[in-house]
Amino acid sequence: MTKGLELAAEAMPIADHPRRYDVLVAGGGNAALCAAIAARRAGTSVLVLEAADKFYRGGNTRHTRNMRCAHDTATGTLTGPYTEDEFWDDLRRVTEGNTDEALARHMIHESKEMLTWIAAQGVRFQPSIGGTLSLGRTNSFFLGGGRAMLNALYLTAEKLGVDIRYEAEVMGLDIEDGQFLSAVFRDGAGLARVRAGTLVAASGGFEANIEWLKQGWGEIAENFLIRGSPNNRGTVLKMLLDSGVQQIGDPAQCHAVAIDARAPKFDGGIITRLDCVVFGIVVNRHAQRFYDEGEDIWPKRYAIWGRLVAAQPGQIAYIVFDAPSLPLFMPSLYPPIQADSVGELAAKLELDPQALEETVAAFNAAVQPGTFDPARLDDCSTQGLTPPKTHWARAIETAPFYAYPVRPGITFTYLGTRVNRDARMIMADGKPSANMFAAGEIMAGNVLGQGYAAGIGMTIGSVFGRIAGGEAARHGLN
Ligand SMILES: Cc1cc2nc3c(=O)[nH]c(=O)nc-3n(C[C@H](O)[C@H](O)[C@H](O)COP(=O)(O)OP(=O)(O)OC[C@H]3O[C@@H](n4cnc5c(N)ncnc54)[C@H](O)[C@@H]3O)c2cc1C
Repeated sequence: MTKGLELAAEAMPIADHPRRYDVLVAGGGNAALCAAIAARRAGTSVLVLEAADKFYRGGNTRHTRNMRCAHDTATGTLTGPYTEDEFWDDLRRVTEGNTDEALARHMIHESKEMLTWIAAQGVRFQPSIGGTLSLGRTNSFFLGGGRAMLNALYLTAEKLGVDIRYEAEVMGLDIEDGQFLSAVFRDGAGLARVRAGTLVAASGGFEANIEWLKQGWGEIAENFLIRGSPNNRGTVLKMLLDSGVQQIGDPAQCHAVAIDARAPKFDGGIITRLDCVVFGIVVNRHAQRFYDEGEDIWPKRYAIWGRLVAAQPGQIAYIVFDAPSLPLFMPSLYPPIQADSVGELAAKLELDPQALEETVAAFNAAVQPGTFDPARLDDCSTQGLTPPKTHWARAIETAPFYAYPVRPGITFTYLGTRVNRDARMIMADGKPSANMFAAGEIMAGNVLGQGYAAGIGMTIGSVFGRIAGGEAARHGLN
């Protein structure tokens, strides 16, 4: 019985797709396209099945801006070297060692080639933009952003002769003893079965599947916002795990940042993120602070705030700051809530005015003299306050006063399929699958047991996508 179609199969007829392919790629984002291009360049026939329509093609990749790759020298767009060892140190620190070291080092090594490989597929880079995400040395920014990057990859894939089907959601997989046989997809015409020599699963994580998120987080997941594609529901991932592929990662581990609480439930993208935590204080709905807002330089800490807000009552918090901080960060899509006094601001946020006034007064009283410098870990801190604010602490005292409401914004999940260095899926018995490969979010948990370093999502997709495509082609041609 085809996995995923146990209930539907009897009710709906399944047409046979007229063509058999060497490589079937499930998904249409960065990992999928890198795999498809690599496989096609190796001489195989390739079909890409993308659930989204053409305009929304490319899943979360549409929203990206940059990719982290190791490199030994400065380039036209990167300000200095970023060695493999430094990349590994950064990854080990953010994951607190919760990573497969051999696989991670392999990825980092391969990332060195990605900058030229991906440019050869038509993607162009630009120097890093300024602002709080100062990644000009480590991360390569896509000229025109993720959508332009995807357009280049799709154009190259089309020119090479990759077949691409949009609005083609993979609904079922036929897998026998770890061997992929065929997939069933749904498009406008109904259900169709397509046979292929190999499968590359590059269909993202399960972040858009709230019910699945609840298994890791409980009911509070109802209050999460999903920053990317509503299509990443983990349909393919679930079928693979149900077919005996080994699972890796923790269901509650994911990349989650604090985003504007007014953002849409899905696909709000980068413009709903808020980078101003370090410039103010963050309070929960009882108007109480709960974490050191100035713990570290923002790019190193931004990915902890989704989890911190998730732990607060109602999964909501408020970043409160005053007039001097307003020009210091990139604004969100939505204007901040503004008032002439802290009490009035509290009323607009539906917080207890007295409680917020007390919190701000206690914070202001604890602020020590220092030299404010947003570009480094400065000496502006609080004394005698719990929790402390250890850098960039300045009294909140100059009207107008501002606030942004924030909720956890889930970027992508980490639980996925275990793979080896060839991006080949590992079965529950520890043996490599005969012909199934995975790349991108769907296997991110192999590298990211927890934590995040900006730009690594695209590294995982590009590096393992290229490997998966190449290995699938090698298998397909044998
Ligand atoms: C707002 C935002 C900003 C980000 N910024 C960055 C950044 O600057 N740098 C970075 O490294 N990372 C960033 N990320 C993370 C990054 O987007 C992902 O790590 C990366 O795009 C994952 O690539 P992927 O190909 O695995 O998944 P996606 O790009 O999400 O692609 C998954 C694809 O699978 C398709 N799909 C899903 N289910 C099915 C199915 N059943 N059948 C067929 N197709 C299916 C989807 O439609 C989609 O095309 C960001 C994420 C978000 C949400």
